[in-house]
Amino acid sequence: MRSSRKSVRTGRWLALLALPLALAFSAPGLAMTSDGEVAPDRVSSGAQNGVGLMRIVVADKSGIDQLNELGVDLAEYVKPVDNGIEVHAILSPEESQALRDMGFDVQDAISDQNDYAENMTERAGTMRALTAAAASTDTLTMLRAEWFTSLDNQLFLNIEVKSSAGTDSTTVLTASWDSGAGTEIGSGGTATMSRFTDAGQYMYHRFSNPVAISAAPAKATITSNKGGSVTVDVSKWLGSPRKVTGNHPYVSDFVDHYMDATEVTARISSLAAEFPKLTQLIDLPYKTNGYRRQAQAQFGTASASIVYVTSKAYGSEGGNDITMSLVNPGVANAPLTVGVSGKAVTVNLATNGSGAISSTAAQVVAAANGNADAAKLLTASTYRGNAGAGVVAAAAVTRLTDNLKAPASVSRDPFQMKALRIGKQRDGSKVGVFLYCQEHAREWVTPLVCVETAERLLRNYAKDPNTRKLVDDLDIFILPTVNPDGSHYSMYDYNMQRRNMTNYCPATSADPANRNAWGVDLNRNFSIGSVYDGYNGGSTSCTSDTYAGPSKLSEPEARNEVWLVDTFPNIKFAMNNHSYGGYFMWPPGAYKTAGREVLPRVDQGTEAFFWTSSDYILSRVQEHRGTGIWPGRTGPVTDVLYSAAGNSADEHWYNRGIIGWDFEVGADVYNPTTKRFTAVGFQPSFAEGHEEAMEFANGNIAILDVARSYATDKLQPRSELKTVKQEPGATTFTFTTSEPANVYYTLDGSRPTFDSPKLALAGMREGNQTLTVKGNTTVNWFSIDIAGNVESNYKPDGNGKNYNKQTVAIQ
Ligand SMILES: [Zn+2]
Repeated sequence: MRSSRKSVRTGRWLALLALPLALAFSAPGLAMTSDGEVAPDRVSSGAQNGVGLMRIVVADKSGIDQLNELGVDLAEYVKPVDNGIEVHAILSPEESQALRDMGFDVQDAISDQNDYAENMTERAGTMRALTAAAASTDTLTMLRAEWFTSLDNQLFLNIEVKSSAGTDSTTVLTASWDSGAGTEIGSGGTATMSRFTDAGQYMYHRFSNPVAISAAPAKATITSNKGGSVTVDVSKWLGSPRKVTGNHPYVSDFVDHYMDATEVTARISSLAAEFPKLTQLIDLPYKTNGYRRQAQAQFGTASASIVYVTSKAYGSEGGNDITMSLVNPGVANAPLTVGVSGKAVTVNLATNGSGAISSTAAQVVAAANGNADAAKLLTASTYRGNAGAGVVAAAAVTRLTDNLKAPASVSRDPFQMKALRIGKQRDGSKVGVFLYCQEHAREWVTPLVCVETAERLLRNYAKDPNTRKLVDDLDIFILPTVNPDGSHYSMYDYNMQRRNMTNYCPATSADPANRNAWGVDLNRNFSIGSVYDGYNGGSTSCTSDTYAGPSKLSEPEARNEVWLVDTFPNIKFAMNNHSYGGYFMWPPGAYKTAGREVLPRVDQGTEAFFWTSSDYILSRVQEHRGTGIWPGRTGPVTDVLYSAAGNSADEHWYNRGIIGWDFEVGADVYNPTTKRFTAVGFQPSFAEGHEEAMEFANGNIAILDVARSYATDKLQPRSELKTVKQEPGATTFTFTTSEPANVYYTLDGSRPTFDSPKLALAGMREGNQTLTVKGNTTVNWFSIDIAGNVESNYKPDGNGKNYNKQTVAIQ
């Protein structure tokens, strides 16, 4: 405000000076400084005319009046001094000089532009520090911002942001977005984000569910209550166009009911018989334990007096024929005896002097196990480790049973697992893909996905050119059920059975009431990242639903998978089909609980390949009925789901370099009326299960498309060095590539090789890392794609110089 007043004033009274009138004020009783010299003005900064607050000494009050008459900007300050009156005026150097020319004693400056500049510098410094402090309180790193469609073209928004203050639970992020390009931020909506933590560690902020929106946003702003905000572009998730479209009708839809393991195995066997030129049926070497159990019976109800017995033979092999009775002899002072006739075990209970039964559970157990003939048939136990001091009750003849209810068409023998190998040329020369389903028994949709995929490949081969390319160029292994015994148990006995049927429990937890709590979680039985190595998400308890088994690879089902990928080393891709939730995931899949130490993350190029593949594969899933798999359910298992110690995808990737993907079929279904997502569960109505099978068969075929692209990829990647930031004395850069590829670089002028540093990711779900150099630096580098094509055909192990070179300059 003062500067505008000043300019008006300055112009006016300096102009007055040009008039003779000015001379009327000459010699107004001048006062000189003590040394007779006029104090020099301090240096004009040039800014604001270099004004300063100057000290003027006049002889008397008339001098002040004269200054006022001239329109000089006087401060509200008057001070008597020895030789007159000191006043202060705001003057430019020119104005000071003009007043001196008129005979005024303009002395030194109280403050001038140098002070002003210092003040402003100090203020700016303080402001920078404050801003920096605010920024360091919360720096927001954008991970993902995407919109997508699902079912009935409902639009959804997904945002993931990492907050530097995220470990503080009071940090709240709010997202606002526009309603299309050029519209105001906030016009599309605003939502508070959820703080996503796992194993006690902050991961990032996200929406717990994608937010339903009415228009595709172009930009979103995320603001932290701890200060700081970031505005980013919102991109479209999924919807990449199909690469190949055939003119021939593509046939699909080959499943019309939920099938047990016997049925799906018969189905792929008949496909093998029908298409002998394109297939081979592989008997996997390790038979399962079988859909079978020992027969059991339990006597009594109170824990201390319960006796239960378990047959030595499986129920199907004679155990179900055994009977047992606890007989009250009806006389006083009878001894406890055991008699065996054929397969009938009779326990004659002891009585006391008054004829009452006196045998305790522990005594009956000892008597039965101590009888040689009875011990050939069964083992007796007290209940769950109880001492068994309670007196037992008499019991009529009771037949032991394995409690298995599957029809006789389901064999009780060890199961012969079969894989269907599909390919025109099945000699190991083609890139192999292993598609497998139903490691978890209750996930009934998954074997349908495998069967549907096999049917489509074989029945479209003759007419559909894309199918023909897949079968001609790939070596495909489909295992429709990894857990056949559990599959039968889930369908006929206990529908929530997840594990196989092998019971490793000791007598303390092997009573018949526990029979739905036995078995090994096959997807925890593998050898990488196992609970036996301290990883999270597997259990060593035989009754836990994530029981990892007594040791790594203890189970024939898991060993069959390992046998397959070891026997066919051309296998480069694997898909582990599970349900439910609608996930698409890849390694790492496990971390150690202490410190959340994750299995090594895949490198930058592979992670980029995963994301690029996701777009293609999930677009194919979406084609069936519009289901959009959420970006927030896409990524490494440890980042989007949980730690799954000893899972098979990690086994394949870390031990063999096989790209091991996981599907969770069965995405949540959005209800536009209630505006809620509903989970579909393991066994939805067949109408829903059928849709899931169709859309994820699309996904498995899409994986074959990706594998074929990999197999036939001869295109070399191209890469560029991109400067990100230049500051005095430091330049920051990164690399971009034309396709997913790794970049190896050197900063010391040497030739880049596979031993050189490799460009990494900046962090979980973040972009490429950046590199900062503090002197002019020669950067040498090359890129290599996932298929092994090297940029410019450079030979990292050779002597050629045809790598990329660029000097990064410092300002
Ligand atoms: Zn599962």
